Amino acid sequence: MLLLGLESLPTKGMKKKKYVIKRSTTGLGLFALADLPPQTRIIEYIGKRISKEDADNRYIVYLNETHALDGKARANAARYINHSCEPNAAAYTTGKRVWIWSELAIKAGEEITLDYGPEYFDAYIQPVGCRCKKCV
Ligand SMILES: [Zn+2]
Repeated sequence: MLLLGLESLPTKGMKKKKYVIKRSTTGLGLFALADLPPQTRIIEYIGKRISKEDADNRYIVYLNETHALDGKARANAARYINHSCEPNAAAYTTGKRVWIWSELAIKAGEEITLDYGPEYFDAYIQPVGCRCKKCV
C-alpha cells in the first residue's frame, strides 16, 4: 500500500525521490524506489532542534552533547525507517542537520534500515523482541 502525502519536502541537491513509505513486517517502513549505491544520501532526518533534557520520545536523534532533533512530526519521512541489527543505512550529522546515507548497496524495493543503537534497542525493542531480518 502506498501512502501519499507523507514524503518530506524536496531538498536541494536531491533530484529524484529515492524512497517511498510502505507497509513492512513491523508497521510502516521506508523502501528504496531505485537501486541505491553505497554512500548515497537518501533522506534528511527532519526535526525540531531541542535541548537534550527535552528529548523524551522515540524519534530523538542526538546532534551533540547538548542538543537533539525531535523527529516525531509526520513530515519527517525518515521516522519510518525501521531498526535492523544488520542495517543497510546510517545516520550522519552535518552541523545541525542529520542525513541518512546508504552504507551498502540497496536494491529497488528493499527496505531501508538503520541501527538505532543500544540505548534505543534496550528501551523499545528488547522488551517486545527484535523483528529485523537478522533476528527473525
Ligand atoms: Zn534485530
